[in-house]
Amino acid sequence: MVIVMLMGIIPSIVVENVIVQSYEDRALSQRTIIIQNQSNIISNQLVQLGYMEDQSNAVINGEISMLTNIYEGRILIINRDYEVIKDTYELDRGKYLISKEVINCFNGQDTSQYDKRNQYIEMTVPISDPESADKEIIGVMLISVSTVEINDSKDMLEQRGTMILGILVILILVFSYILSGILVKPFQKITRSIEELTDGYLDESISVPDYLETELITDAFNKMLARVKTLDDSRQEFVSNVSHELKTPLASMKVLADSLNVQENVPIEQYQEFMRDISEEIDRENSIITDLLSLVKMDKKASDLNIETVNINDLLELVLKRLRPIAGKKQVELILDSFRPVNAEVDATKLTLAFSNLVENAIKYNRPEGGWVRVSLNADHKYFYVTVADSGIGIPEESLNHIFERFYRVDKSHSREIGGTGLGLAITRSAIVMHRGAIRVYSKENEGTTFSVRIPLVYIA
Ligand code: ADP
Repeated sequence: MVIVMLMGIIPSIVVENVIVQSYEDRALSQRTIIIQNQSNIISNQLVQLGYMEDQSNAVINGEISMLTNIYEGRILIINRDYEVIKDTYELDRGKYLISKEVINCFNGQDTSQYDKRNQYIEMTVPISDPESADKEIIGVMLISVSTVEINDSKDMLEQRGTMILGILVILILVFSYILSGILVKPFQKITRSIEELTDGYLDESISVPDYLETELITDAFNKMLARVKTLDDSRQEFVSNVSHELKTPLASMKVLADSLNVQENVPIEQYQEFMRDISEEIDRENSIITDLLSLVKMDKKASDLNIETVNINDLLELVLKRLRPIAGKKQVELILDSFRPVNAEVDATKLTLAFSNLVENAIKYNRPEGGWVRVSLNADHKYFYVTVADSGIGIPEESLNHIFERFYRVDKSHSREIGGTGLGLAITRSAIVMHRGAIRVYSKENEGTTFSVRIPLVYIA
């Protein structure tokens, strides 16, 4: 409202002042020119009719008094000796007048000045002898004319302007009040809708399509809302999954322990077998908890990364070295293709965990015998690329979109026997995303799977 008001009022004030001022300037300069012209005519006549010597010429006196009457002015005629030989006020006749203006005029400079406070224009006009060779200046006319009437007109103009301005200000005020109300309304609507949503009266999304801008805001807000909802859903799902996953080994242990308890004279072999099973379940519980802790660590802010320059070739070699015994047991061949030496700014611990998970999966979900896992490393000027390809069982197409979810396993029973928590890929993805990287998966059932990872060489905070 204030902006609209200022935009209306300031230009109006400026325009009013400019108009009044230019009227005044123009009126004054016109008056000056007229008087100067008339004075020039009179000054020529003065010389011709010998007025400088004898001031009794009735024609000249008549003209001079007419000029002074019309413009409410006063005319002094000064001769070469600076003596006032004519004064229309008859006050200073016979006196001497030696002022700057008069001297300047004798030296050939006409002067004209406007006295704003006393409201008159004063000017000098030379009286020169046309007979003499160099048009010698033989006298000066000092003319002052009143500008009261110009000022009166200016005041009137100003008054009218102020009146119009006043009306304009009132109109602008009303207009800006209405306009700002109309403009702001949709935004108030948005606020109200959001508040209603917060209070729980609305549960879907908000819609204020009044302006394109409000539509964009509400769209962005709805997107954010959807994301919050998804996050909330996934949090709830995660909590229920965690409880379920942690309860499963406990339930198995309980069954095993109870069955031992209710039986009498249990043979020692059965005790040992059940205890082995219980121990396995404890291991499983342990690995779930370890993975959960890793995941929680990954979920923290990126500022928790311990960034240093790391040789990725060495890092991958170490990962493969650690996993070689497991691969050996499953008769899976591990191959590392390093196309160039790569140094990058990364958190070595987190990336090691991420790549270990990928390679471990590639070994775990490989074919029963004669399988291979190929890890390759390459880089360009911006990113380094790691791919982990295997000759394994592959992932069904409908599962490809879910494998990065927490606790998701393609084949629960199968995975269980292979061993796994369903958290590995979630951990891997978090670690890569923390490095502002990306991970993609390509897979064909019964042929193999390829995970490809892209990470910036320089860490972007
Ligand atoms: P898990 O602990 O079960 O391995 P992950 O999160 O690491 O959990 O993997 C999720 C699921 O994705 C696995 O259960 C498996 O079904 C599938 N998967 C992951 N990697 C591969 C792979 N290389 N080949 C086939 N399936 C895979």
